[in-house]
Amino acid sequence: MPSIGKVYLVGAGPGDPGLLTLKGLRCLSEADVVLYDGLVNPLLLRHAHARSTRTCRVGLGPDRRLDQEEINRQIVELARSGKTVVRLKGGDPFIFGRGSEEAAALAANGIPFEVIPGITAATAAAVYSGISLTHRDFASAVAFVTGHEDPTKQETALNYQALANFPGTLVFYMGLHRLPLISQTLQQHGKPGSTPVAVVSRGSTSLQRTVTGTLESIPERVRQAKLHAPSLIIVGDCVLQRERINWFEKLPLAGVGIGITRPEGHAEGAITQALSLGAHPVLMPTIGIEPLTDWTEVDSVLDRISEYDWIVFTSVNSVDALLGRIWERGGDARQLANARFAAIGPATAERLHEYHLRADLVPEEYRGEALAAALIPHVQGKRVLWPRASRGREILPEQLGAAGARFESLVVYQHVDLETFPDDVLRQLDDGTLHWIALSSPSIARNVARLLTEEQRTAVRFAAISPVTEAAAVESGLKISCVASEYTWDGLLRGIANASGGAESHPEKAG
Ligand code: SAH
Repeated sequence: MPSIGKVYLVGAGPGDPGLLTLKGLRCLSEADVVLYDGLVNPLLLRHAHARSTRTCRVGLGPDRRLDQEEINRQIVELARSGKTVVRLKGGDPFIFGRGSEEAAALAANGIPFEVIPGITAATAAAVYSGISLTHRDFASAVAFVTGHEDPTKQETALNYQALANFPGTLVFYMGLHRLPLISQTLQQHGKPGSTPVAVVSRGSTSLQRTVTGTLESIPERVRQAKLHAPSLIIVGDCVLQRERINWFEKLPLAGVGIGITRPEGHAEGAITQALSLGAHPVLMPTIGIEPLTDWTEVDSVLDRISEYDWIVFTSVNSVDALLGRIWERGGDARQLANARFAAIGPATAERLHEYHLRADLVPEEYRGEALAAALIPHVQGKRVLWPRASRGREILPEQLGAAGARFESLVVYQHVDLETFPDDVLRQLDDGTLHWIALSSPSIARNVARLLTEEQRTAVRFAAISPVTEAAAVESGLKISCVASEYTWDGLLRGIANASGGAESHPEKAG
């Protein structure tokens, strides 16, 4: 019998993948299996090395739906087989989340567990739409209410008379489809029709939209704006301050869905930057990075690594692969003491820095031609090593060879083409939440073209990180709407922000 595992019921927060606790993050990174529900932002799964399964109980997309009994049974079984299981639940696991039922099932089966709270939708959606639920001028209490029950049914547990008289803010979860009934019933019990109301859809994600009105006007306004679930209904005078402190919906890329095409594990910088500008990043890698299966050639070069005058790094992967191999063989960075380092751009230089190595040369423009030009004055008669991917551009060997360098290429990692995009990416291409695809290299551009149908191509706009990438994209039949003026992800995202004209140019945001 394997020793029994442990289950962590983790609150994933409301949508913004930054709103996860440190404790939750640690659990995710240590889990063997992650079961997550339909409200969880899939971007969070990049912190997990685990196998993950979606357990939607609500109708979000084509994923498998499991009923609660089945989920409980699976968690118990996985833990019994010795696994560390994370059960990742939207918002806080115990607020309208049935997390306590899962905890009770674990307790009944003698499975060890812990519960990690999360930021619940009410606080996040309110803060991200500029509303303080307990502003002292407006409310001295706040109530979280389920909108799931039909207020006209006898058996409802909700006392609408008490809710109408409640001296503070009411926040309804799960109420979007019953909004007309909720507002009508509150008014029937004496709540003034002029009471301010906000409905916040997809709160704290870049797709957040907020519609405001009064108890009287809100059902029609929400109907016209065609808001999506999940949405919260906030009822109370505190809604009035929103205009002044609404900050999130004004970020430069608010409402803009951007496909991040970098390989998995190498997209962190791009995701963080996209989120900080308010964008909705969608991970859509087209190539995988894999280690070599045969290191013979690399090892023979490493045996005489001190002979090289320059080592030229053109990606973070080549830094990791070369330094990683040196370490695996029992060596360390001192073996590189004789060489000077060139890096193609700041990200690669930054990766060297993580190994406490300093790039001696970074060109002003982050592209192969500029790197070659910057190196040419230094390489005449020198030995230059280029640790590289299994495929890529040949500009360096051509130009540095012609400049009299004794140039050697060395493949240190492999690129493999992925065959398709994940389901949730295809769904977002379909439903119009993906507005741009950001292309960050010529091979990625070619791959994106290979993986998209004609129809999918016309549903989005494409941005290229540099003119070289633009040329490859155009050659593959993609129409480029924006080329970065600085050839970095930062430049690419800023280019998209300019070309989008910010949130205003998106019809989605007009509501
Ligand atoms: N445990 C979750 C709530 C689950 S009930 C939490 O603590 O947040 C599901 C309801 O939560 C949805 O019907 C919706 O009303 C609300 N909700 C969840 N995420 C939301 C979001 N990002 N924006 C607005 N409402 C959200």
